[in-house]
Amino acid sequence: MNTIPYKTYLEESELPECWYNVRADMKKKPAPLLNPATGAPCTAEDLSHVFCDELVAQELDETTPLFKIPKSIRDFYRMFRPSPLVRAYFLEEALGTPAKIYYKFEGNNTSGSHKLNSAVAQAYYAKAQGLKGVTTETGAGQWGTALSMACAFFGLDCRVFMVKCSYEQKPFRREVMRTYGAAVTPSPSMETDVGRLINAEHPGTTGSLGCAISEAVEVAVKTPGYRYVLGSVLNQVLLHQSIIGLEARAAFRKLGVKPDVIIGCAGGGSNLGGLIAPFMGEKLRGEADYRIVAVEPASCPSFTRGKYAYDYCDTGRICPLAKMYTLGADFIPSPSHAGGLRFHGMSSTLSELYDQKLMEAVSVKQTDVFAAAQQFARVEGILPAPESSHAIRAAIDEALKCKAEGKEETILFGLTGTGYFDMKAYEAFNDGTLSDYEPTDEDLERSFAKLPKVVAR
Ligand SMILES: *Cc1c(COP(=O)(O)O)cnc(C)c1O
Repeated sequence: MNTIPYKTYLEESELPECWYNVRADMKKKPAPLLNPATGAPCTAEDLSHVFCDELVAQELDETTPLFKIPKSIRDFYRMFRPSPLVRAYFLEEALGTPAKIYYKFEGNNTSGSHKLNSAVAQAYYAKAQGLKGVTTETGAGQWGTALSMACAFFGLDCRVFMVKCSYEQKPFRREVMRTYGAAVTPSPSMETDVGRLINAEHPGTTGSLGCAISEAVEVAVKTPGYRYVLGSVLNQVLLHQSIIGLEARAAFRKLGVKPDVIIGCAGGGSNLGGLIAPFMGEKLRGEADYRIVAVEPASCPSFTRGKYAYDYCDTGRICPLAKMYTLGADFIPSPSHAGGLRFHGMSSTLSELYDQKLMEAVSVKQTDVFAAAQQFARVEGILPAPESSHAIRAAIDEALKCKAEGKEETILFGLTGTGYFDMKAYEAFNDGTLSDYEPTDEDLERSFAKLPKVVAR
């Protein structure tokens, strides 16, 4: 194992020693993953040819509240954690709101997003199991970048299937990954059965996340010494991301402040699940109450317009089935969609919490999202990722509501990353060519009609 390249000296308590598993405090648990071949709940054995053993154990554990963070992972976290909890004084002033706005900033590492929190954990467990390498998919490229960094650190091979349109549009993302040693393949490729099939069925396709997942899983399962890793959606990823919420809560306690509203963008649900975890735990145990708001794009609205049903996680239908709010596994957002958060489904834990009405969801249009990003950048200085800007939009709207109603709320939102590789989308916004798109009810019905017929046991 490598030695620590650089250390910062921090009070131990500010860097949590454990991750927190919110499922342990849920009375009604999220629905289990199902084996697509048998329809029965997945066992550790079903999952062990896809994921590392320790991660399988975390995935299936719904009773253990705290998982000790291994020392090597905490040492890595010290390079960029605790991440800053920032009071947005300038934004408050610009809005003229009586609300107090805080954000937890996860973009202060080279990968530029919160994804590194889980990437390092997953690479560590793969190495500890003696594996040679891991495979994954990446859409916009943040996950692939984070995983490449983590694999370089622990000395693991990293094979990334990158959605073809991103591979072509974001050459710099691709080169960051290659610099950290990853092999990056545009998806769908001709290297896998599923890739060849998709290319034959849809000649010229520019790919999708669901398709890249199928390719990465196929390679992991067929290559000795490899496993597949995923950057969102799964319970294990939410567990690792709980570091965000635990640090935020520790900082708030130090300040003697309690947030009233907690807001996060939601793609597959990992940053939001992590940010809210300890606060949701207090809510579930009846110790405190918080309003929790998920923000999603109007062009990919899984919570606000999706169905709560078992669905496939990937296009090739080789992954376990998950019960989640979903738009259907074949749903692909309109090509005009520029803001990320484009997965068709949502974490099964967040889906269950939403179904139990323990959290809310709103959808926002992308032109409004980029307007919020611009306003935030001009006063707070940070150039936000488009994904994060969904949360900024909702936080600004909440602060303006406080202004209209004369309410002094404390708002916390997750600023998940920076947007330096998203300048094409910013360019479209600045040129006035960015457009809004919402799927029609007919579009969604067509997609829902293809949901698998599964009766939960
Ligand atoms: C991946 C990503 C997201 C969305 O993923 P979640 O799993 O929903 O958190 C949000 N923001 C940034 C910067 C990302 O890279």
